[in-house]
Amino acid sequence: MLKKHFVLFLVITSFLFIPTIVKGESKTLSDEEVNEQRMALFKKTEAVTNIPWYYLAAVDQYERSLRFARKDREKPTSAISLYFEQDQWAGKLNPNPEDTNAKTIALYDGFGKDGNGDGKADLTDDEDRLAAFADFVLGFGVDKDHFKLALWDYYKRDKTVGIIMGKANIYKKYGTLQLNDKSFPLPLGYNYSYKNTWGDARGWGGRRIHEGTDIFANYGVPVRATSYGIVEMKGWNRFGGWRVGIRDINNTYHYFAHLSGFAKGLEIGQVVEPGMMIGGVGSTGYGPPGTSGKFPPHLHYGMYKDNGITEWSFDPFPHLKSWERSDRVKRKKNR
Ligand SMILES: [Zn+2]
Repeated sequence: MLKKHFVLFLVITSFLFIPTIVKGESKTLSDEEVNEQRMALFKKTEAVTNIPWYYLAAVDQYERSLRFARKDREKPTSAISLYFEQDQWAGKLNPNPEDTNAKTIALYDGFGKDGNGDGKADLTDDEDRLAAFADFVLGFGVDKDHFKLALWDYYKRDKTVGIIMGKANIYKKYGTLQLNDKSFPLPLGYNYSYKNTWGDARGWGGRRIHEGTDIFANYGVPVRATSYGIVEMKGWNRFGGWRVGIRDINNTYHYFAHLSGFAKGLEIGQVVEPGMMIGGVGSTGYGPPGTSGKFPPHLHYGMYKDNGITEWSFDPFPHLKSWERSDRVKRKKNR
């Protein structure tokens, strides 16, 4: 009897304790907490190197987005996402690829640096990796033109340099890393309708199959930016008509097609925020510039992900649904 009770006791207590232990071990930080840690590290590095914090933030944010988009990278496990291969860190010819001695690493021309002053150049340490990248930038210079040269030398890809400089402009303007707010592209007060047409062969404005969601509404209904981002594309496309492309802080490209026209003053390179008007619903496209009326007016909305090598489209429908829901909640709160 006693034994049975004891076993029962163990079973009950294990249910009581295990969840709290597990919680303690895997306490995941909120986005805000991670961003506070990141900002503190960027500001600290700026104080030492004079490299503006928003340049460091832009590179790290780019690397962070790659970790989510690429299968050959680990998801972010700490505040800083800057990435170095082991042999890049220690130096290609270093006989010890796991070297943590900053002096021998420098001898073999490796990236590794001791940023936190613990006497080790540790590839897994946030401050050490940040110091390593900062030191690489210092080899070029801290002003905009030299920073761009450093990026070009590091990534060897024009598109990546452009994307990172765009992120730097966004961070500089808002002074925070917390820029994940989103909006539905049309104001909720207007009549509109949409359904999931992902992969449908009969949509309008996609590239091959229908790469996006068509939101039907009347001519001239305002079309708004859905995220914080940079206007990367603006102008005529044979199929998309008057269209705008906006790249957000997470390296996702948002494509708005068949617009009736653009918001006054909208320019390529401009920083936008969720809810900012960029144009109106129209039916432009499928012909030379200005062609309109070949199909009912609607906004074609597409989303594309860049992983540093290539770009692919994904289904915007679930995102549109979630932004629509959160806009509805915001609208109720403001009443
Ligand atoms: Zn479409």
